[in-house]
Amino acid sequence: MALPSFQVRLDSNEKITPKVHKLVFKLDDPKTISYKPGQFVSFMLPSEDERPIKRSYSIANLEKSSDDTTYIEFVIAYVEGGKATELFFNAEPGMQMEMTGPFGLLCLLEELPQRVFLIGTGTGVAPYRCMIEQIKARPETEFHILFGAQYHEDLFYLDDFHQVAELDHVHFYPCLSREDKEGCASGYVQTKLAELNPDAETDMAYLCGNPDMVDDVFELLKEKDFGVKQVKREKYVFSRF
Ligand SMILES: Cc1cc2nc3c(=O)[nH]c(=O)nc-3n(C[C@H](O)[C@H](O)[C@H](O)COP(=O)(O)OP(=O)(O)OC[C@H]3O[C@@H](n4cnc5c(N)ncnc54)[C@H](O)[C@@H]3O)c2cc1C
Repeated sequence: MALPSFQVRLDSNEKITPKVHKLVFKLDDPKTISYKPGQFVSFMLPSEDERPIKRSYSIANLEKSSDDTTYIEFVIAYVEGGKATELFFNAEPGMQMEMTGPFGLLCLLEELPQRVFLIGTGTGVAPYRCMIEQIKARPETEFHILFGAQYHEDLFYLDDFHQVAELDHVHFYPCLSREDKEGCASGYVQTKLAELNPDAETDMAYLCGNPDMVDDVFELLKEKDFGVKQVKREKYVFSRF
């Protein structure tokens, strides 16, 4: 079966931290896309070789409904010498691109346990930003959002996460590995998670972003008797081409 394909047009390209750009695309053809918060799409990008390069990005939209939406937002981190990085960081509004999707299973389950940890490093928090409206609507579950970065200046979407964390059932922990800052936890997301005493009887976890972080946290949770189905993972693995 052919993959669903979309022509999109860049609407804006904004530097939101020293190493992250936020890109917003308008859907050109077809005019809308439906997705589940937590999913990603793949871009087919032109390259000097004959075949296009394929790169995936999590949908970061913040909106009430993810049915028939007319735009799509991404946060893209700088990678030294990266082919897609070069293209996206220099892309001008109006530029047309092709993407396929949506794909992925990092979505909130219908049935959730008492506590859910949403853990991301860098742009790996994009899926959780996209889930904010769903999180608001599920007060029966306690959500703990852990955002790992090196420095405070590397954090983004802070207003959105702080705002949702005003709700009694939502908690937000920015974690900085290379800086001490008031209002942030010091150290890796792993350290903060351990402080929250994850319990396989009552909790589940979502992990997204840096593959090493995803593996480390998964090991930590397995040691605490979490089963594979209690830990959903999306690794931002590098492409081989
Ligand atoms: C399901 C999925 C979702 C993703 N979502 C996002 C997202 O929302 N935002 C986002 O920024 N990225 C995301 N990624 C990663 C993204 O697809 C690209 O891999 C990334 O943008 C780098 O592509 P590039 O072409 O610029 O670098 P490449 O040309 O692929 O790599 C250049 C060089 O850098 C190395 N490299 C590549 N990536 C990294 C890295 N992160 N750290 C260190 N070295 C690296 C490579 O091994 C290579 O040597 C996702 C990946 C997957 C699989």
